[in-house]
Amino acid sequence: MKEAKFIVDAMLGSLARWLRILGVDTLYPRDYSDEELIMLARREKRVIITRDKKLAEIARRQGIEVFLLDTCNIKQALLRVCRRYEIPLSIEPNRTRCPLCNEKLVVVKKPEELLTTWAPPVQADEYWVCPRCRHVYWRGKHFRTMLKVLDELKRFSKA
Ligand SMILES: [Zn+2]
Repeated sequence: MKEAKFIVDAMLGSLARWLRILGVDTLYPRDYSDEELIMLARREKRVIITRDKKLAEIARRQGIEVFLLDTCNIKQALLRVCRRYEIPLSIEPNRTRCPLCNEKLVVVKKPEELLTTWAPPVQADEYWVCPRCRHVYWRGKHFRTMLKVLDELKRFSKA
């Protein structure tokens, strides 16, 4: 099955960040009109994820695939999208994308190879660097919190 790519509407920023972390190509344009969003979806063959029924209807009429969400709860939303599009609920270092800009992250083992001039605030075994926005990530507290959320979702999806 070909992997789905997404456009997430401006209300669903945290869903976009989660999907990127799970390695899914996800755009999150914040100041697009409905028409611009639909045009981009068509051009790049992306599925639109939205809670906006009107946008969903207009897009579907034009042959665009839409995943309409009926929840404001981020965990539920993520679970539904992952179920529908068979996205594994796990963070794969070689797949994960920058939550800020959607670029694929690069794994770096030594802090001196980081593309930044500042020293990382913690010592870690490996870092993930965004080649586009230069953000550096590592397995810190925030990462562990995300793993907990994913474990919770996995339990949910089995139940
Ligand atoms: Zn980035």
